[in-house]
Amino acid sequence: MLMKFNRYGYSYNDVDGPSFFEESKDHEGIFTFLASDLTDFPQKLEGYFSKIIDLTTLKLTGYIPSHDDFWNLGSLFDDIHPYFEYMGREELDSAIGEYFNALLIQNSYDTKKYIYSPIYDEGWYMDTFIALYPEDGFNDKTETAKKYYKFYQQIVKPDDDDDPPYVELPPTGFHSLLSYQDHISSMIYWILDVNTPYLKELSIPERASVYGRVHATMSDHPHMVVVKQISFSDPHSRYYRSGYKRSEIVDGEEVQWTILGDLYDFHKGTEHIHPEALEELQSIVESVKQGYFEEIYEEYEVNSFYEVLFLEVYHMILDRTLVKKCRNCGKYFVVKNLNVEYCSRLIDPDEESLDNRTCSDVGPKRFYMKKLEEDLPLKFYDRAYKTHYARINSGKMTKQEFFLWHKEAKEKLEMVRANTYDFEEFKIWLKK
Ligand SMILES: [Zn+2]
Repeated sequence: MLMKFNRYGYSYNDVDGPSFFEESKDHEGIFTFLASDLTDFPQKLEGYFSKIIDLTTLKLTGYIPSHDDFWNLGSLFDDIHPYFEYMGREELDSAIGEYFNALLIQNSYDTKKYIYSPIYDEGWYMDTFIALYPEDGFNDKTETAKKYYKFYQQIVKPDDDDDPPYVELPPTGFHSLLSYQDHISSMIYWILDVNTPYLKELSIPERASVYGRVHATMSDHPHMVVVKQISFSDPHSRYYRSGYKRSEIVDGEEVQWTILGDLYDFHKGTEHIHPEALEELQSIVESVKQGYFEEIYEEYEVNSFYEVLFLEVYHMILDRTLVKKCRNCGKYFVVKNLNVEYCSRLIDPDEESLDNRTCSDVGPKRFYMKKLEEDLPLKFYDRAYKTHYARINSGKMTKQEFFLWHKEAKEKLEMVRANTYDFEEFKIWLKK
């Protein structure tokens, strides 16, 4: 798969094929993922497994999972990130394979005798792995089993110069997905969150450097290795960019020239260039001046969800994107104005909902109400403010009197907060 970045955000594409999903520079997808509650993911996968195999002895129970069992597990991915709409099946395979291997590693390790002896042969592995899938359909389950058997072998019998894949013990379902969420949250907090203590005065590149010093890897282990392809025109388009064509008779035969053919030696001087080609070049320059141009194509080959997330954060760093957690919904949002505390998400995102208020519509009031609950002197002050204000309308108090009362009340509130005036006395004074 390819991730293609441009000035609007990025798209996630099949190689040579259509775009699966697009993300704007609001970064909604990644922020939704970071705010998703994954706490019951491990037990859902463990529950699925334990119906099919005994988690201690690894013997099959005889239970055959149904398609519903399988896709109930898959439905965990609903709404956590657009990536899963296209890659959900792969991610589910990977969660199953990873957890199965971790169980095997755990069972191969005798903690009493400190002996490590992998005991599972390929035949047993294949049969047991395949039993984790529903019987019909899933024609690729043998391939999947082979793939994860290979990983398993790498872990138990690594080549000398190969680092074994990492397995977290005790086994946890969806361990990788949970750790992705944690790693990416950490990167964003360290580098992009405007409210992170200690780091506020630094620029984003400076913060990235602080992050790097703290999270130093071993010398030959970069934080990310990925293939990037760069093109000056759309590498997936099969059309010529210019309709230019010129025929010439050379030795009695007709030869066709394209714009590239005619301008091939342009960098060596223009005197031998055909005038029609120079005219075409000029018209290309004109159209670019008018805004008809494409950016440099930067595409990354990606093979995992983590790569997608990492590259998105990397581009946020390049773009100097500052983020903040919304005070109402708690999700990150991109901040353009540092004074903004609330995001513009709908408080009720249900499509059928008629409520189109956003966090910034309701947030400040809710925040004030919450503060009132936590701040008792403020709560009493607020109540008294309302009764005194009402006295203006009923004629019991003049505006001037109210103004003086308000001033004194505010001063007394600050004194109570600073513990220089008794709260009980303040309450009595407010009731006057
Ligand atoms: Zn919000």
